[in-house]
This record gives sequence, C-alpha cells and structure tokens, in this order.
Amino acid sequence: MKTLKIAIQKSGRLNEKSVELLKNCGLSFENYKSSLISSVSNFPLEILFLRDDDIPEYVQDGIADIGIVGENVIAEKGVEVSFLQHLGFGKCTLKLAVKNSSEIENVKDLEGKAIATSYPVILKQFLNQNQVTADIRTISGSVEISPGLGLSDAIFDIVSTGGTLKSNGLKPFIDVMSSQAILIGRKGSENNELIQELIQRIQSVLRARETKYVVLNAEIKNLDEIVKLLPGVKSPTIVPLAEEGWVAIHTVISERDFWEKINLLKSAGAQGIVVMPIEKIIF
Ligand code: ATP
Ligand code: ZN
Repeated sequence: MKTLKIAIQKSGRLNEKSVELLKNCGLSFENYKSSLISSVSNFPLEILFLRDDDIPEYVQDGIADIGIVGENVIAEKGVEVSFLQHLGFGKCTLKLAVKNSSEIENVKDLEGKAIATSYPVILKQFLNQNQVTADIRTISGSVEISPGLGLSDAIFDIVSTGGTLKSNGLKPFIDVMSSQAILIGRKGSENNELIQELIQRIQSVLRARETKYVVLNAEIKNLDEIVKLLPGVKSPTIVPLAEEGWVAIHTVISERDFWEKINLLKSAGAQGIVVMPIEKIIF
C-alpha cells in the first residue's frame, strides 16, 4: 500500500504534543530536530516537519495526506480539507482585547477603530457578522504591544492563560473562537484504510488519557453499594482476596468524575484504592 505522509509542526507549541501522540500510537521514528522528513519504521508513514502555517495548503494540495494543525490556522487559511479528529491539545481562544483604560465595551464600539491582528480573515468574518466596519491592521507578531504604542485601539489575538494580555495592560472583552489541535486530511482521504487505522489508534490513545484503571479492596457485604458507583467499561472484575469475606474490584473510571467517585467509594467502604494510567482502550 502507498506510504502516507503526515505533516506536523517542526517547532513551536504543537510540535512536542504531536510527536508524543504519534509515539503513543505505537509509531516508531527518529525525531531529529534538524531533519525535515522522518520515516516510521513500523507503519507505512512518513512525517514531514513544517511551519504550521504551511500545513493546511500542503494537505489541501496533496503534498501531505494528513496533518496536525490548530483549528485557528485552518479557519484563517480558508482551505478545503477534511476534518478528521479533535486532538485535545494546543487549546486556546481567539479574543478581542483593549487597553484597561479603553471605553470600548462591545462589538459595536469597534466601528471605525483600528484593530491589530495576525488573523485578519477570522476577524473580518466576525466583524461582518456583527455589521461592524473597522480598520484591520495585519501584523505578523507581537500584536499585544500595538495598543500601547498607539498603533491600534484593539487587538485580536490568541490567548491561552491571559498572562501576556495582562502584562501589556490589556483586557479581553469578546471571545471570538476557541481552538485546539486537529487532524486534517485531504478531501476524500477519510476513506483511505491506512488513515482510518491511524484515526482508530489516535482515538484509543485519547480515550485512555481520559480514563484511569482503579483497583480497590472491599468487604463482600459492601460490594453491591460499591459496584453501583462504578460505571466501568462493561462491568467491574471482582476477584476474591486471600482473606475470607474480602474481594478486590478492578474497573476503569473517567478522569472527569475521578475525585467525586473516589470519595463516594471510600464512604461506601472501599479500601487500599490504587489508581493507574491506561495506555490504550480499544473497543
Ligand atoms: P511556526 O513557526 O510553525 O509558524 P507559530 O509561531 O506560528 O509557529 P506557535 O506559537 O507555535 O505558532 O503556535 C502554534 C499553534 O498553537 C497556534 O496556531 C495555536 O493553534 C496553538 N496555541 C495554543 N496556545 C497558544 C498560545 N498561547 N499562543 C499561540 N498559539 C497557541
Ligand atoms: Zn505559524
């Protein structure tokens, strides 16, 4: 079968997590910082290391079959690619922000104002939807310093923690788009068998990350109450302990309701609770 090509970011915020995800999918490859291309030894796949801005077009044009990139970049480039899978990392929000002292309070106040951004396409769409006309100033970096320099009245930029805004005397006032890393493919590529296999591997890794393997001991008299608290993949495994009247219960629970469940289990009589990470979950 033809070797697939996947494009990932060469260096930057998405690089490390993209490499880690592929490795967790059982793919074996060298990750030399200097190389542009790396072959996977145990799957017909080549990895291309690129600037994130180039990935959408490379995938659209078929130079790469699939790619990992932020949703924000896809929206900005307006390319024709297929969405294949959310990946759960690289989370951020595109926000409008103004100086702390600014009188701009809502989107209509932006009429006729200067807004600095590296995302003119997404911003223009948002302003059009709100029937606001503003002077969009496209700059490629350090957008957050422009209001302080008197170059703009507002900015439209990526925010994750908000620390950069704060240290530049800015306050966010509208969230326009939230974004995370996604797997994209050339149009129609979702029907490719190798791509399907890769998506399945990715999904099993993502599911496992959201879930913990839990083992706990309980007296048989408390078993029913404890089992009621455990959703599990199907139903929990119950193994007798050497000590008469006691069992060990094995199950998986989601990271989300982990603490809540642990406390309820303790109150119901669970003891010696051991929680372990899971590598993969395959249905
Ligand atoms: P490249 O050299 O590949 O062009 P870049 O400087 O454009 O890199 P990065 O800053 O590495 O890009 O960000 C890559 C992606 O990470 C963004 O497009 C966005 O989807 C995501 N991201 C998550 N949090 C942030 C953040 N706080 N600031 C910027 N990008 C973020
Ligand atoms: Zn970039």
